[in-house]
Amino acid sequence: LPVVAVVGRPNVGKSTLVNRIIGRREAVVQDVPGVTRDRVSYDAVWNGRQFVVVDTGGWASDAKGLAAQIAEQAELAIASADAVLFVVDATVGTLDEDEAVVEVLRRSRKPVVLAANKVDDQRTEMEAASMWNLGLGEPYAVSALHGRGSGDLLDALLAVLPQAPREGEPVERGPRRVAIVGKPNVGKSSLLNKLARQQRVVVDNAAGTTVDPVDELVEVDGEVYRFIDTAGIRRRVKEASGHEYYASLRTHGAIERAELCIVVVDASEPLTEQDLRILSSVEEAGRALLIAFNKWDLTDEERRRYLEREMERDLVQFGWAGHVNISATTGRHVDRLGPAIREALDSWETRISTGKLNAFLGRIVASHPHPVRGGKQPRILFGTQAQAGPPTFVLFTSGQVEDGYLRFVERRLREEFGFKGTPVHVQVRARE
Ligand code: GDP
Repeated sequence: LPVVAVVGRPNVGKSTLVNRIIGRREAVVQDVPGVTRDRVSYDAVWNGRQFVVVDTGGWASDAKGLAAQIAEQAELAIASADAVLFVVDATVGTLDEDEAVVEVLRRSRKPVVLAANKVDDQRTEMEAASMWNLGLGEPYAVSALHGRGSGDLLDALLAVLPQAPREGEPVERGPRRVAIVGKPNVGKSSLLNKLARQQRVVVDNAAGTTVDPVDELVEVDGEVYRFIDTAGIRRRVKEASGHEYYASLRTHGAIERAELCIVVVDASEPLTEQDLRILSSVEEAGRALLIAFNKWDLTDEERRRYLEREMERDLVQFGWAGHVNISATTGRHVDRLGPAIREALDSWETRISTGKLNAFLGRIVASHPHPVRGGKQPRILFGTQAQAGPPTFVLFTSGQVEDGYLRFVERRLREEFGFKGTPVHVQVRARE
């Protein structure tokens, strides 16, 4: 669902406005710092469109200055939201703190809707109009308390939100993009042929979808995927010189365009540097990953035992990825690709709600606090999933968190939420 973050300095009426938007009367519990804050995101519906409202107020620890708090709030909003609802107080006018936020919002290029709150009567409407000078477009005069103007405000918000789906309607998207990559002769084109032959190749006449001629739509296990750069796989360009360079360019281009990469490895031969480089590229690009050990029909007992050792030694850093032992020529286990692709893409697109994430972080902070360094104890205050595809988390911390602790958090995130087949990124915004 699209996310709206509500930003503004204290006392401008953010919580009241949030309550107004989500259609509730009781006050959102405000002043509880950090992870102990119960919820910050709420489901909302307007005109049958669903979205999520994130109340950025109230989570920050009180140990810092107001300006810094608001800047962080805006940063949080920018990291996690599709649009920002910036609230100012029409009865007070704009203060320096407001101006600072405007700067951050402008730089972010996220759509911003400006709400001039506390316009309870005609007289304050004039004050609201003066907010044009913030350069954020039309100020919507509202009274969060009485509900005045909130309909127009919500219309404006929905207009800038991406694809807010109708209530009860699943989010629509086109076929997901899959790249088959791997060094030459591992069986990429054999695999593509096998998939395209045994599954139906979809002719793309559907309205509104256009396929790049280098791509093919192939149905695998009941789902249609767009296989990227299949022309490159089929054409098998064999330039005499510069061949490897161009092959690697193609590979990178395909990885960039894909959402999931099937990295094909020749199971009958020892792993090579090139295999590992391609796997790393997929991880670095943040794509979902499935490893296909091909030519399984050519492996014997001894080779399989050795492959196991190679996996423990060289592939351990890709332990989060799924793998399938296949033979593109005999068709062995090719039918397992479909479910594995689906699983990895589901992980890749997972969204953990802010409430769930912070309940989890709260448990970690309680049971495994960061070690004390130089008399200080860095601490996770709050976290949010900034992105899906791949899952990317931003942790707001007091003090610099060590890499080891971050890896521990990532491990625990995987234990808690799965994420089989997808890289997981954890970023930190630290405050000294
Ligand atoms: P690409 O360069 O990665 O596209 O590899 P190809 O699909 O052209 O395959 C290279 C060679 O390996 C061809 O001779 C294929 O017949 C052979 N090959 C591909 N997959 C398998 C497999 O699963 N088993 C066996 N025995 N041979 C395979």
